[in-house]
Amino acid sequence: MVSSEAAPLAKTGGLADVLGALPIALRETGDEVGVVIPRYGSIDLKGARRMYDQIPIYLGPARHVVAIYQAASTAFPLYLVDCPPLYDRKGFYGESGVDYPDNHIRFAVFARAALAVARLLYRTEIFHCHDWQAGLVPALLRSSFSTDPTFLGAKTVFTIHNLGYQGLFPRSALAEAGLEPAVFRPDGLEFFGRVSYIKGGISFADALTTVSPTYAREIQTPEYGFGLDGDLRDRASVLSGILNGVDYAEWSPQTDPHIPAAYSAEDLGGKATCKRRLLEEFGLPAEAMDRPLLGVVSRFTRQKGADLLAEAAARIVAEDVYLVALGTGDPEFEDFFRQMQQEHPGRIAVRIGFDNPLAHRIEAGADMFLMPSHYEPCGLNQIYSLHYGTVPVVRATGGLDDTIEEGTGFKFAEYSAEALLAAVRSAVQAFADREAWQRMMRRGMSKDFSWKTSAAAYSALYRRLLAR
Ligand code: ADP
Repeated sequence: MVSSEAAPLAKTGGLADVLGALPIALRETGDEVGVVIPRYGSIDLKGARRMYDQIPIYLGPARHVVAIYQAASTAFPLYLVDCPPLYDRKGFYGESGVDYPDNHIRFAVFARAALAVARLLYRTEIFHCHDWQAGLVPALLRSSFSTDPTFLGAKTVFTIHNLGYQGLFPRSALAEAGLEPAVFRPDGLEFFGRVSYIKGGISFADALTTVSPTYAREIQTPEYGFGLDGDLRDRASVLSGILNGVDYAEWSPQTDPHIPAAYSAEDLGGKATCKRRLLEEFGLPAEAMDRPLLGVVSRFTRQKGADLLAEAAARIVAEDVYLVALGTGDPEFEDFFRQMQQEHPGRIAVRIGFDNPLAHRIEAGADMFLMPSHYEPCGLNQIYSLHYGTVPVVRATGGLDDTIEEGTGFKFAEYSAEALLAAVRSAVQAFADREAWQRMMRRGMSKDFSWKTSAAAYSALYRRLLAR
């Protein structure tokens, strides 16, 4: 698997969670997986094994030298592509909301380095590439490396975790990234005169997947297709949706080391302790114990519906509910959430930042979890919420629609503050009947979205490809 993130070493979102868990789940189906990611500045090499000292990588005439490390004590081989000038930086893709100007170089070197790992260290039958950062792997295998005997017969799978991020660069990137001019065509890497790395996957992979069945359909429509819906429709026969699983070893209220009290569907007692402590931590009043506490853990972006939350927040808390939010993202929304906290002290409390233990404490301590996403390829937090008895209130899109049903949560269809507010009102009303509410919590807690089912689906796909 080739990816720009893998938990726990490099994570900004759900992609990393998938790469941290799917390789392990695939062992049960008899599939052996090695993973390649860049060695970012935040990844400590202490204990890692240096597997290959100096691999020269040429992008046209430009020479880059990478070393390959294998991370210490991971459950599967995790290879780190080390090239300090390219990856040893503060961010993965950029800083302060601005992309690094050489991302086309960084992820061209990365793709070639991943092929080098396959050549030198890890014999590979299937290259399973994730998102635009790995998009050049299928493109290279079908162009510059198409006659390379090492890779003869190798198959490629490309998984779209988020179509909104495409790796778009000016046309000049083609030569700078050392790509063959022949791939610059509309059924190759070209996207309206620019170079699109995600199209490397979409155009050239043997199979395409995305992370929920509904999102697989949605991305073939103009509304959700980001201009790529036509290309995806062209490849509809090889495109399928496989829902992400969740890692219940990390996300279970029975065993979660980050939460102040354990609880389960059989004994919900500890959840009240989690709520009380969460209120204290956020400086919200004890009266909130009897009222719904709404949780948000999110990237503050339009994709996640930050604009809807911004529009509806004042009216939501006017329903006599409380709101805690944790997130980072667009500065405009970060500012907005800070301002909401000031305007509604004791009602809305916000933490700007990325804080995994706090994300766990919010999942455990809140009564409801809000995800008003504009689009949501799969979404993990709503699935965690189900398991923590924290009733999701979601927009019916993508994976949110596939994982939440009447009886385990509240859904709304229209992308509007009014529709969100109506769903919150229904949830608040339902909360008043404590017994019915607890039944709903327990129904959610009994759902099983473990990786077993998803891993079986990927495994079946791999086998179909290899049998061809
Ligand atoms: P996406 O990958 O689009 O960001 P997902 O719902 O698939 O959304 O996955 C988000 C993951 O990142 C979850 O594990 C969630 O808990 C975590 N997460 C998001 N924002 C934060 C944050 N500010 N602090 C801690 N964890 C976060």
